[in-house]
Amino acid sequence: MNPVLRVRPSGGPGGPLLDVRSGPFLLRDLVADPSLGRHRHRAGPLARPSLHGLVEDLAGADVRGRGGAGFPFATKLRTAAEAGRRREVVVNVSEGEPASFKDAALALTRPHLVLDGAALCARALGTRRVHVVLPGDRPGVAAALRRAVAERVQDGERLRWRLHTTDPGFVAGQGRAVIELLSGRPNLPVTAWAPEARAGYRGRPTLLSNAETFAHVALLLGAGSASYRTSGTADEPGSRLLTIGGESGRPVVVEATHGTPWRDLLDEPVLDRPVLVGGYHGTWAAPGALRDLTLSRTGMAAAGLTLGAGVVLPLAAGDCPVHRTAAVTAYLAGQSAGRCGPCRNGLPALTDGVRALDEGVDVSARVGELTRTVTGRGACAHPDGTARMVRSMLALFGEELDAHAAGDCTYRHADALPGPRSRR
Ligand code: SF4
Repeated sequence: MNPVLRVRPSGGPGGPLLDVRSGPFLLRDLVADPSLGRHRHRAGPLARPSLHGLVEDLAGADVRGRGGAGFPFATKLRTAAEAGRRREVVVNVSEGEPASFKDAALALTRPHLVLDGAALCARALGTRRVHVVLPGDRPGVAAALRRAVAERVQDGERLRWRLHTTDPGFVAGQGRAVIELLSGRPNLPVTAWAPEARAGYRGRPTLLSNAETFAHVALLLGAGSASYRTSGTADEPGSRLLTIGGESGRPVVVEATHGTPWRDLLDEPVLDRPVLVGGYHGTWAAPGALRDLTLSRTGMAAAGLTLGAGVVLPLAAGDCPVHRTAAVTAYLAGQSAGRCGPCRNGLPALTDGVRALDEGVDVSARVGELTRTVTGRGACAHPDGTARMVRSMLALFGEELDAHAAGDCTYRHADALPGPRSRR
């Protein structure tokens, strides 16, 4: 067994590498691009759960979406089942966020676990239509899933798999943007008046979730609800995948059970640095803030942090949180669809404001006001997430902003965090 498997989400030689660390469940016994035969040997035949049984199992184990919102998956499934008869299942593997690689890791090492989860849900919902949404900017991931689907078709699986490829871009993987893509329209978010589970693709009930969530469904069915519940904590059973930004610039995907102390997940020097938790739409954690916390949705929320899709970006030695916030804000402003006022006008203004802060101009009050102005006014949560990340910087790094205003930077500006770079 490989303790760490090195894979290439972009496919082919020469692209950036990703380290996938062996884990207890989803990432157990890692091999790259495993065959369906190998998967069946290990996981057994695909179950045929009743809708009621699957909903009960998911609710009993409190399986929640791993794409960011943490919505109870049993509720989503039940809603789709009750909303109408022509149901659709959508596996979203396009992570959108460039710093997130957890679904890429699953696609490259456990594609059939992900597809099993989708197939189980389709069987329970009485549909044969399953869409798989591939990331346009990660050809290696897309190729792994294409191969896996082709194997299943060749094996006689009686599902109608439909593959779609997103445009590159941060908002292209957003749920409504994916529904637009499936419908043949531009791959951009739009205002939704009802959840996808009620009215998604072609107005049909659509069970849409990310790859990791479907992998958990397969895991739960394979292990049994009682066994699944023995891992993690009583309130938050099971594990989750994290993408942790590495000092070398190479991210690592790890699987950890809920309740694991962050001290066991992050290296010692990193614990005493600022950490951007939850990705580019996340919140900054102060140096040392994670030291006494555990991997827990509720515990993190009590500390003002949200895990989102599990992206954890420790600041590299010598990097500055204000400088990094300016770079991420500029990147996010460039990723909007430019359709709504908060993105068209607000995010560029926010970018200018945070850049000015980085350059020592004290415009904190104006930047704080802008974060409030853009929040809650877009067709999607892109401006809200961007504002949240900026607000957390304002709240935590007042002393650093004072240092910048005085022409200093206590962190120094050494670029090392993976992701967007400012033009400084
Ligand atoms: S809020 Fe921004 S990203 Fe979202 S739909 Fe409107 S313009 Fe696009």
